Amino acid sequence: MKPNSREKTPCEICGEPIFFAVTRTNELQALDAEPAPVKGSVAAYRGVRRWLARSLLAADAAQHPPHPLEERFTPHGQTCRGRISAQPVIPGLVVESTIHRLPQPRGGSRALPAAEPQPQNVIPFRRRRT
Ligand SMILES: [Zn+2]
Repeated sequence: MKPNSREKTPCEICGEPIFFAVTRTNELQALDAEPAPVKGSVAAYRGVRRWLARSLLAADAAQHPPHPLEERFTPHGQTCRGRISAQPVIPGLVVESTIHRLPQPRGGSRALPAAEPQPQNVIPFRRRRT
């Protein structure tokens, strides 16, 4: 089931068609008007006069699989192209997921990656003798 033309409204930021559903906590949530049967994280169905939504990521969602009358949708906050990042970029901060990881050695020490050539002005660190 899809929201009809009266239920759909363009997003004020990006203009994509969205519709609003009432969550379990009685708040309005903007959802993409086009269903997302595979990746949608919200299950919604048309109630008497409004769409009702619940999260499929909630702790108890596994005990309540989607009903045949429920359709999966994506929260518009995930897909809105005009959204503003909640966290401004911090200069100098490197996000861990963007750090290039060296391949892990398999087995013995022969598999270790070759040491990068050191610049001439760098003194290699040596462990102090005890
Ligand atoms: Zn939008």
